[in-house]
Parts: sequence; C-alpha cells; structure tokens
Amino acid sequence: MSMTNFKLEIDSDGIATVTWDMPGRSMNVWNEDAIGEFAAIVERLHTDDTIKGMVITSGKETFCAGADLTLLSTMKARFERLTIERGEKPAMKALFEEASKLGQMFRRLELAKKPVVAALNGTALGGGFELALTAHGRIAAQNDKTRLGLPEVKVGLIPGAGGTQRIPRLVPAQDALQLIVQGQELKLDRASAMKLVDKVVPPADLIAEAKAWIKANPKAAAPWDRDGFKLPGGPVYSAGGSQVWPAAAAIARRETNGNYPAVKAILSAVYEGLLVPFDTALRIEARYFTSVLRSPEAAAMIRTLFMSMGELNKGARRPPGVAPSKLQTIAVIGAGFMGAGIAQVSARAGMMVYLVDRDEAAAQKGKEHIVQALTDQVNKGRMKAAEKDMILERVRPTANYEDLRSVDFVVEAVFENRDVKKDVIEKTLAVIGKDVIFASNTSTLPITSLAAYSSRPDDFVGVHFFSPVDRMMLVEVILGKKTNDRALATAMDFVKAIRKTPIVVNDSRGFFANRCVLNYVREGHIMLTEGVPAAMVENLARMAGMPVGPLSLNDEVALDLAWKILQATKTDLGVKAVDERQESLLEEMVVKRERFGRKNGKGFYDYPQGGKKSLWPGIVDIIKPTDNPDKFDRDDLMRRFLVTQALEAARCVEDGVITDMREADVGSILGFGFSPFTGGVLTYIDQMGTEAFVALCEFFAKKYGKRFKPNKLLKEMAEKNETFYGRFASGAGARQAA
Ligand code: NAD
Repeated sequence: MSMTNFKLEIDSDGIATVTWDMPGRSMNVWNEDAIGEFAAIVERLHTDDTIKGMVITSGKETFCAGADLTLLSTMKARFERLTIERGEKPAMKALFEEASKLGQMFRRLELAKKPVVAALNGTALGGGFELALTAHGRIAAQNDKTRLGLPEVKVGLIPGAGGTQRIPRLVPAQDALQLIVQGQELKLDRASAMKLVDKVVPPADLIAEAKAWIKANPKAAAPWDRDGFKLPGGPVYSAGGSQVWPAAAAIARRETNGNYPAVKAILSAVYEGLLVPFDTALRIEARYFTSVLRSPEAAAMIRTLFMSMGELNKGARRPPGVAPSKLQTIAVIGAGFMGAGIAQVSARAGMMVYLVDRDEAAAQKGKEHIVQALTDQVNKGRMKAAEKDMILERVRPTANYEDLRSVDFVVEAVFENRDVKKDVIEKTLAVIGKDVIFASNTSTLPITSLAAYSSRPDDFVGVHFFSPVDRMMLVEVILGKKTNDRALATAMDFVKAIRKTPIVVNDSRGFFANRCVLNYVREGHIMLTEGVPAAMVENLARMAGMPVGPLSLNDEVALDLAWKILQATKTDLGVKAVDERQESLLEEMVVKRERFGRKNGKGFYDYPQGGKKSLWPGIVDIIKPTDNPDKFDRDDLMRRFLVTQALEAARCVEDGVITDMREADVGSILGFGFSPFTGGVLTYIDQMGTEAFVALCEFFAKKYGKRFKPNKLLKEMAEKNETFYGRFASGAGARQAA
C-alpha cells in the first residue's frame, strides 16, 4: 500500500502506529486523498492478523483541523450538476452516499475488534476530533495550545462523521448539546474533566502511553457496542430528559431565532439519534448533514467565514513584492479608550509599545486601563499571571516624543479633532525614522486630508479599529489618495501580527463599516418615530439576525456621537442629507434630555448602577408608540434592517470604497455583526438575486422613504441578472483607479 499522507509502522508487539503527516500542508485535513488512504489502513486493521492494535497520531504540531471544506464545496457542485443531468432524487442519493463516507469509515474502524487509540499530540477539531472519538481510547499530550471540539456550526454545518452521536453517548446530553451547538473548543483540562480524554501525559511519553493502553485493553470496544450500555444522561424519555429537551429547544430558538438550520439539525440529530440503535443513529446524522450541506446558509457561511476570511488573513490583499516589515517597537499616540486597547493587543503580540499622551499622568492612566483589563483576564482564568506581567513590561507610558526615535510603526488614536491630530502628526514626523509608516485610527476624518499634515503623505495610512479593541476581530485599513504600497503592506503586517482580520478600503466619509452600521441605527430611530414600540424595534432586529438591537448599539457607541455625526453631515452635505425625524429624536434625547447612552447611564435604556439595563420608559413621552403593533408588517421591519445595510454596501462598491467583494462580506460580519447566516452584506443580495433585491428596495422606497432607492450599479446588475461575485472577480487590485 503506497501512501503519501500516512506512515504505518508495526512494532514487535504487533501495535501499528499510524502517523498522519500530509506533505506541503501545515495541518492535516480530511480530503479525498486522505480519506482514500485511511480507508485502506482501516481495511488492513481488519485483515492483517499481525496487527493487534493501532495508535493514530500526527506528525504535525496539531492532530487534525477537520475536513477540507473545499471538499464539501466540490460535493455540492457535483450534486448541482447531477441534479441537472439526472434529476434531484438520484443526485440526493449520490450526495448522501458521499457525505456518509467518512462516518462509515470511522464506524468500520470502531468495529475492527482491535483496540485503537488516538494519541493526540495537539488540536483536533471537526472530523479530526470525530476520528479521536471513534478510537476506543484517547490519550493527549500535555499542551496548552490543544483545543478539542466540533466547530462545524460556525460555518453553518453539523458534524457529519459521528460527532452528534458519540458525544452524547460519552457525556450527558445537556453538555453534549452545549458543546456541539455552540461549537465550543475545549482545553485539555476541561476535556479530561468531561471524560472526553482518558489521560493527559507528558509529550515525550505519548506514544508509549498509547501503546500501554492498548496492551491493557486488548478487547476494547466502544461503550455503545457493549451489552448493557446506558446513556450517561439517562434516556430521552425520562425525568432527566424532560428537564433537558424542552429547555434545549427553547434556548436554541431564543439564541438563533430559527435563522440557523444547522442548530435545529443538531438538536434533531441528537434527540432522534438517542432514541435508536447506534448504526441507525449514524444514518440519521448523515441525513441531517446532507440536508444542511444543501442549505444556502451553509454555502454563504462557508464562503465568507471560512474561505474568504482565511484568504484575507493570509494577506490576499497585501501588495506582493513588498518585503515583510519587522515591527518590534511601535508607538501608540493617545492613551485613551482606543489607544490603550491598541497598545494592549500589540504588546500581547510581542511588540514593545510606547504609549504616548499629552503628559506622563495621562499616559500612565492609559497603562492602568491595560493593567485592569489584563487582571480581569487573569481573574477569569483566561491568562496566566506571568503572561500578564510580560505584556505589561512591554508597555512604556511616556509624554516624550524623543522616545519615538527608534519605533518601527506609529498608530495615532488621539481626540477626533483635526487640530489635535495635525499637531500630533507634525510632532511625530519630526522625530521618527525617515521610512517609518504613520497610521491613524480616525473614525470620521478622511485619511487623505490627515495625510496632508504629514511631510510624507504617501507613508500615511488608516487603521480603523472597532471597540472593544481586544474583542473585535476586524481592522479597516484605509488608503488615502497617496498611500503607497509599503504603507499598505506595513499596516497589513501590523494587523496580522495582532491576529486580526484586515479589509482594505478606499477613503470615503465613514469608510465602509460605519456607513453601513449608521444606516442600521438610523432605521431603528426611524421605526421609533413611525410608532413602532421600542421593544419591538429591538426584538425584530435580533430576529433578523443582528447581535444587538439598533437602540442598544446606539447607546453603546454614544448618542451624542450620533448627534455630532448628524450635525457634521448636515454642515458638509446639506440639510437633505439627514432625516428630519432622526434629527428631532436625537435632539430630544441628547440636547434636551442629556441622554448620551451607556456612558452616562442614560440612553434609550436606563443603566442602574450594579443592576440590569432596561428600556427607558420615558421614550413614550418623546414619541408615542402605536396602540396596535399588529398593524406593522413584521417581515418588512426585519428586512428593512438588513436591506438598508446591504444597499449601503452596494453603494460602497459603486463608489469604489470596496473593491473586493470578500472584504465587504467578511467586514460586515466581523465589524458590525451583520446577520452571519446570510454570509454578509453582498452575499445577502447575491443569494436573494439582484433583480429581487432591487424590486424590494423600490417597494420599500415607495412605502418607507427614498433612502431605499436602489443605486445605479444595482439597477444595471439587476437588468443583466448579475451577482456581485460574478461581476467583480475576487482579488481585484488593492485600489480603484483614482
Ligand atoms: P479618548 O478620548 O478615549 O482618547 C483620546 C486620548 O487622546 C486621550 O487620552 C487624550 O488625553 C489623548 N490626547 C489628546 N490630545 C493629545 C495630544 N495632543 N497628544 C497626545 N495625546 C492626546 O478617545 P477614543 O475613543 O480612544 O478615540 C480616539 C480615536 O479613535 C479618535 O480618532 C476616534 O475617532 C477613533 N475611534 C474611536 C472609536 C470608539 O469606539 N471610541 C472607534 C474607532 C475609532
């Protein structure tokens, strides 16, 4: 048997060690080749009498990252072709058989009547963890980086190789559901406390311990293949089961609003599977897996959250030919809310950070914020005290610009005030090295206009972070008119170093993310003025898939900021650029009642000290809500939230702010939580069809206002029946011709 992905060695005790080590890849994944070779190994285990047991391990740093999702896309493409050629039923049958292959191979491994041990040297996720669950024993090497779990749900799928059946037969159904529905990735201590791992051993002893397990368990069989097996959480129809199942369904509904077919399929597969014998249960899982694989939600999520995000993280938009930058020491100027966050994530990534403010005390205050944030992490068990000390050691508060002589990169996060920024840019440029790139975290000032304050406007770029910096994974990299490739590449190297995802956008008012999200907030405001009760506004937004309602979101970013932006828009673009209803609502809230949002404990919500926030009852004094909420078309209201954002994204494409469709989609989900099941703002339009989207916009424009009028690009695309991904090939140049 010739193999390229696995190596098989048999020792003098007849124990075979299978080492998975795919050439040319940093991680092992299940693809067609690997499945084919492993199937031959399983057959050999069955037929070769010299083999008494088998250890499966990996030659990489990790064990296995799961299935190669391009394999699933190929399967789906084959299904679509077969549907056209032979009809849906035979195509479905073929898809089901293909989708069941991995699971069946694992089952055959499990039934070989010889002990099999997974020797987990590192992380095992998805199909990798499912292989480990199939083994009769699981021994793991002590490794802080190891994560075990089934994250399929995060790309709209369900585990399809036995995961939904083996886990709830190893741990109580309630724990199993949480693990699978949330796609949790467990550290080793948790996994072993849950008994999903038998033993954790020093890395050097891993194989020896795995072999010892085999010798001690020559007749190993899965618990569910032994007589008298009982479910760890008791049967589904039992007193215990009646506590678990109705609640699980209700919680899933509350958390997902029925938007994620995969979540429903996981609950159904586990519930139905636990009622029947194991092999039938595996078939049930395979049916749900096949059906979810065909869903538009899975297609959208795989493309955006796996493929595109992976490509962007690997630097798909980084200009080729620019040597990687060495960012050892950086400066963050402005030690406020954002600056402290940026300094924290940079120091955590190993960089030395000068944290600069107007005076020593202000800079020190910024560092204190970092101390507080890291102490919280330590208290929650998410960080070791030693790591916290090391990070803090790297943060140097200062007010002396002389310290910046040796820095490799500068990020500015001072007040959003043109004069203050100008002063900081000039002072910094006077001391930093002649090739050091300067980046601004401005949220509203055009990068080109700030670059004009620099003696080297081409070495100037925008890096727009989202708050809270340590949790939000997106950074918008903004190109000014003169920004050169080296500045772009350096900014992207910085974003990569702090392990965030970059999107590259051209300069414009509000860049990309804020343009879309401000429309979302405005729609919430306008609905209030139409008489939709505040609770209904918030709930319908969440039902449409948004993580927080528009009023809540506005409270978080501050109502006075929304008011300021509105006034600035009016000054710059004229009265027609703002909605009067929104303006008068914000005037009442901000100017007359000083309700600024969470920051002063008063916004659309009240924030009692130490208590839970609740909607402010006084809203009704500003706008009387209807007595009859049923008169509103719920679907319309929900769609308005998504359409207004998607339409703004389409305008960003037309304006040349967005030049790569992947960035709009990934950016919309990571930056402002645009309903992830849609695959992002542009995939939302593409899946609906541009013609249908334009028709919906026109309908809304007539019924709710001209802000919904579709732009020229969309209308043209609708006429030609084009999609964004079809019309604009991914990976287009970094900047639109100016
Ligand atoms: P902040 O008020 O919390 O912090 C600003 C800091 O800049 C303060 O510590 C202040 O002392 C310091 N500063 C002022 N003048 C200075 C000077 N001349 N030299 C050095 N330091 C000076 O503000 P923030 O919320 O952190 O915002 C900072 C920047 O980030 C702004 O440009 C803002 O638009 C942008 N931004 C903010 C957010 C957000 O959610 N807050 C999000 C993205 C971008």
